[in-house]
Amino acid sequence: MKYCCNCFEVNVSVPSTTSPNIRIVKFTKDFPPEYGTVYGFFVTMGYAKFDLNLPKLAIKFCPYCGAELRNFYRSDEFANEIEGETFANPD
Ligand SMILES: [Zn+2]
Repeated sequence: MKYCCNCFEVNVSVPSTTSPNIRIVKFTKDFPPEYGTVYGFFVTMGYAKFDLNLPKLAIKFCPYCGAELRNFYRSDEFANEIEGETFANPD
């Protein structure tokens, strides 16, 4: 299976304006070291354009099946947003 479970696939594949949704965000510059990966996993309240200041909740495990997300999603093909391409840092 490409995704850890069907529920995660649905929630990460819906349009960004869907509230709530799950987004996989690839950091290319200063990614938080506690993530242990260049990918961040967030629950957001939906948005038109991604911004680091959006209200969002970082998650480490799939809320549906418990898979550790950083171990499962290790490829750009899963990224909804890529720093420097689909959003820019405020500075
Ligand atoms: Zn899952």
